[in-house]
Amino acid sequence: MSEEIRIRGARQHNLKGIDVAIPRRSVTVITGPSGSGKSSLAFDTVYAEGQRRYMESLSTYAKQFLERMAKPAVDWIEGVSPSVAIDQKNAVKTSRSTVGTVTEVYDYLRLLWARVGQTFCPDCDVRVAPDTVQSAAARVMEWAPGTQIFVTFPFVLSSEITHTVAVTNIQAQGYLRVIADGEEVYLPDLEASGHPETPADKEAEGRDLGSREAQDLTATRELLVVVDRISLDPEDRERLVDALAAALAEGGGHADVLRMERTSDGGSRIVERRPFTEAFRCRQCGRDFPEPRPSFFSFNSPAGACPKCTGFGATLEYDEELIVPDPGLSLADGAVDPFAKPRYRRERVAVRELAESRGIGLHTPWRELPAPVRGELLHGSPSFTGAIPFLKSKERKRYKQYIRVFLRQYQRPRRCDLCDGKRLREEALNVRVGGLDIAEASLLQVSRLRAWLDELGLGAFKRKMVASVLNELQDRLRFLDTVGLGYLTLDRRARSLSGGEMQRIRLASCLGSHLVDTLYVLDEPTIGLHARDVDRLVDVLWQLRQRGNTVLVVEHEPRVMERADHIVEMGPGAGQQGGEVVFEGSWEGLKGADTVTGRALRERPVLSTDGRGRIEPGSGSWLHLRGASLHNIEELDVDVPLGGLTVVTGVSGSGKSTLVHDILYRALESELHGRSTAKEHLGELAGSYERLEGTEALDGVVLVDQSPIGRTPRSNPLTYIGGFGEVRRIFAEQPLAKSQGYGPGHFSFNRPGGRCEVCKGAGEELVEMVFLADVSVPCDACGGLRYRPEVLEVECRGLDIHQVLELTVDQAIRFFLREDRLGKKLWQLQRVGLGYLRLGQPATTLSGGEAQRLKIARELARRRRAGRRLYILDEPTVGLGLSEIAMLRRVLEELVTDGHSVLLVEHNLDLVAAADWIIDLGPEAAEQGGRVVAAGPPDTIERAPGSHTGAYLGRHLGSGKAARAADG
Ligand code: ADP
Ligand code: ADP
Ligand code: ZN
Ligand code: ZN
Repeated sequence: MSEEIRIRGARQHNLKGIDVAIPRRSVTVITGPSGSGKSSLAFDTVYAEGQRRYMESLSTYAKQFLERMAKPAVDWIEGVSPSVAIDQKNAVKTSRSTVGTVTEVYDYLRLLWARVGQTFCPDCDVRVAPDTVQSAAARVMEWAPGTQIFVTFPFVLSSEITHTVAVTNIQAQGYLRVIADGEEVYLPDLEASGHPETPADKEAEGRDLGSREAQDLTATRELLVVVDRISLDPEDRERLVDALAAALAEGGGHADVLRMERTSDGGSRIVERRPFTEAFRCRQCGRDFPEPRPSFFSFNSPAGACPKCTGFGATLEYDEELIVPDPGLSLADGAVDPFAKPRYRRERVAVRELAESRGIGLHTPWRELPAPVRGELLHGSPSFTGAIPFLKSKERKRYKQYIRVFLRQYQRPRRCDLCDGKRLREEALNVRVGGLDIAEASLLQVSRLRAWLDELGLGAFKRKMVASVLNELQDRLRFLDTVGLGYLTLDRRARSLSGGEMQRIRLASCLGSHLVDTLYVLDEPTIGLHARDVDRLVDVLWQLRQRGNTVLVVEHEPRVMERADHIVEMGPGAGQQGGEVVFEGSWEGLKGADTVTGRALRERPVLSTDGRGRIEPGSGSWLHLRGASLHNIEELDVDVPLGGLTVVTGVSGSGKSTLVHDILYRALESELHGRSTAKEHLGELAGSYERLEGTEALDGVVLVDQSPIGRTPRSNPLTYIGGFGEVRRIFAEQPLAKSQGYGPGHFSFNRPGGRCEVCKGAGEELVEMVFLADVSVPCDACGGLRYRPEVLEVECRGLDIHQVLELTVDQAIRFFLREDRLGKKLWQLQRVGLGYLRLGQPATTLSGGEAQRLKIARELARRRRAGRRLYILDEPTVGLGLSEIAMLRRVLEELVTDGHSVLLVEHNLDLVAAADWIIDLGPEAAEQGGRVVAAGPPDTIERAPGSHTGAYLGRHLGSGKAARAADG
């Protein structure tokens, strides 16, 4: 194959028929402003072609969709290998997935626990281990040499087998001696005295057998067959081993060794009995345990899942604080929230009657009611159905959506008390490796788990199976550590991971897959990474390259570009103003280039830092959060200034999201809005705090995060900003629409009427591919146009509704010049750098960064609404080129000018440097984090000891200043 991937005449989306060459077996960065065409080149052209080539090599089933799969608009591509795309979509659908399951590390742990785990009896706290011939022999040899022993196995008696048959069988197997209820019996003696049958036989025949032994045997309850009688001799261990092997085999895994003593009358007496078993049975209490199998440790399988929480680790419980959200309210005000719902009038009458009969006032605040009455209201009594029994009685109707929603608001996930949150049934948790059960091991951080496995010294397990499991395990854990995720635990729910963390997990899996000559296409892998961790990420890209792979990265981070083999800059602008290659070459070359990125690299700092000094300790409004705890944060006190731009920084895993999203945001919501609307996932416990002061300076809190604006292709930028209604109205006013009687509803793709009914207005069909990601293909009936042909005949200034939805925001602003209201909304999109988005671009295709900027735009459109709000944003620079961060800073500044406050979690050093106030968390990740390392304006952080952010900030600004000095 050639040394390059050669692309000629690429015209996908806005690409202007460009020719590009990407060196193989090297790291290439594609950079440029957002909307310039980076993804169109990397993902929609190069990767798409790689995927097509791969599918061509597949089944005919896959091939039939190939034709319908959009072919990249390109004249010619050469040198593409099979491709793997690693993007940021956190596509985890089930709440059961964990870091352990998505990385497959947990599957290997399960194998390990099944292979080398030791079962412990929880009642006796002793190890339950099946005996082997060798272990049994060793224990028997503990008796002194010369000891008389009988090696026996139990013979199972049942009513179906007459004793005659039993005796015959035993003799047929070559054994002559048995122990019947503790008495030794020599079988040939029995034979001599006739064939005893059942007692009934004997009675019928009326004969007396006259033999003591025979009668004993007939009534015998327990029969041990003697395999061998041995006088213990260390020299002759082999005889013992043979006897034990035979006994265990004949006894179906059970054997009994009896220590005998001669009696004065020449017989022998049992003085001690040692049972041996190949089953998992507790030696002390006799409880049987199942033999560990891998499925046993799976919380996703009924074989392993805790029966109470079915493997979630948590159950939903009714919570008093949620049922009575405001204890300051009286019964008349509706203190008991479920009873305050209009539809439960009858229950309200009952409450009133109860209050009367208990002699309490309907206008007394809840918190002042006598405790017994509050208890009765919540838990009920024989004469009154309390709130909780009332809610429980509604559970029968859970199949109704509104009932589920109604009930869910009063429930909080509680750690399951049966499995203690460990998700597994008891039997699985009885199995330990190195003293830990598998759930405890899953609670160790990846970096800790690695060290723990090393210390275990499982290398001693020579068995090849164990060694290979261990290798796989160690590899995968090492890769997770390498991509900077060593602070995660395996039990962490995958849904709670950020897009950046998920992408790095995929990257780690690629390292584990040992593919060679593969093309990896990545989308801003530095998202969520602190400057300190970026270098490690670049190392990973290099590892992939060293194995002979080609790495193509869409990225803005200068430090990634610095170490790339090759850089391609797209531009010069976005959308129609972009789509060209404006630079190709090395890092040195880029720094000198007269391009947007080249200039930005020379102009450090890119943002004005002159506005500093707006926040001063001791003056202005502050939020004081006290005693905050969750995850790795414990009893933390933080002060957040209002009226400016505050940035929370810190290395990945230090606790930024925990503090900002999970604690502060939720606390503000419940203080300001009475209740947290934050989506709580089943099993995730909410954070706590002692108190939050200073909220009187705020009227509201708004979270602007990167979660999707919609989960169906039916949401798009236009619907999100509330402009689709306007557009439909404009179409309904066109003469043709009027004459046909089309109303605005005919131009909706969400309602029957004008839309294509085959695809229900989606324009595409999803085809499920075995082993591959689902592929969407255009709808056969409408060809992706989403509407019925007659509706598309209606035109507004030459464009039909589908064509209008295809306009970019920039184009639409010009097109709808006369539509003032619509124009203003669209303009906000342009201002946050989304002018290149198409109005109808399905929400499902928007990146997290784009979704977030859409939300910012919507907030900007209504920012002048009265009140002072705190806006919380999550890495808003995601997807922005170096030149656009200044634009973002200006937009945020507008919010501040209007009297609002802005709080960001951010890594971008340019934006951090331009903040009013920085709160740096750390010093490290997970347990070594969760503290405020430094807080203050940027220039004090630069000098703060122990702050990673400070160190990088100093270097970053220093280099910028130096570069500028060199420049001029
Ligand atoms: P970048 O990756 O540099 O941010 P993109 O390659 O995503 O830019 O976008 C380049 C241009 O192509 C933009 O004008 C964008 O609106 C357009 N575009 C992106 N995706 C699609 C699509 N699926 N269909 C049509 N146009 C698209
Ligand atoms: P940052 O935002 O600084 O990267 P996080 O707040 O995400 O850090 O994580 C801080 C610590 O809390 C880490 O050890 C992380 O694994 C843990 N953590 C974060 N979210 C959860 C969660 N939903 N469940 C359990 N642990 C979590
Ligand atoms: Zn449970
Ligand atoms: Zn259709």
